[in-house]
Amino acid sequence: MSHDPNCLFCKIAAGDIPSTRVHEDDEFVAFKDIHPAAETHVLVIPRKHIATLSDCSESDAPLLGKMMILVARLAKQLGVAYTGGETGFRTVINTGPGGGQEVYHLHAHLIAGPRPWQRMG
Ligand code: 5GP
Ligand code: ZN
Repeated sequence: MSHDPNCLFCKIAAGDIPSTRVHEDDEFVAFKDIHPAAETHVLVIPRKHIATLSDCSESDAPLLGKMMILVARLAKQLGVAYTGGETGFRTVINTGPGGGQEVYHLHAHLIAGPRPWQRMG
């Protein structure tokens, strides 16, 4: 499993930096964003260090697929899944400075809750 000793999210995945985890398994960790933009704001990361979505290739398709399914599963677990009416959540992957990415370890934001939300980037 590739690991970057200088990467903040690798350190969080390893447990070297504390976080409020909502999920962990062999491949992924999910934890609360330190500056939540909404009532529910969770970051889902692979344990494997991949800097950005632009660094992904065909061989990362299983990982990316599992990551999206995990987002949906966590949304359900956190009570914010789309179940009709006004329910639902937002999934964001910022990529590079142009996309407002601040931490260079691939992550998906799972954001939900009553409006207004804080502005991101
Ligand atoms: P990006 O802008 O890269 O898509 O998002 C990075 C996110 O990581 C931001 O929403 C920021 O609040 C969050 N973040 C940065 N440092 C930490 C940290 O040390 N712990 C946690 N839990 N979240 C962090
Ligand atoms: Zn990393």
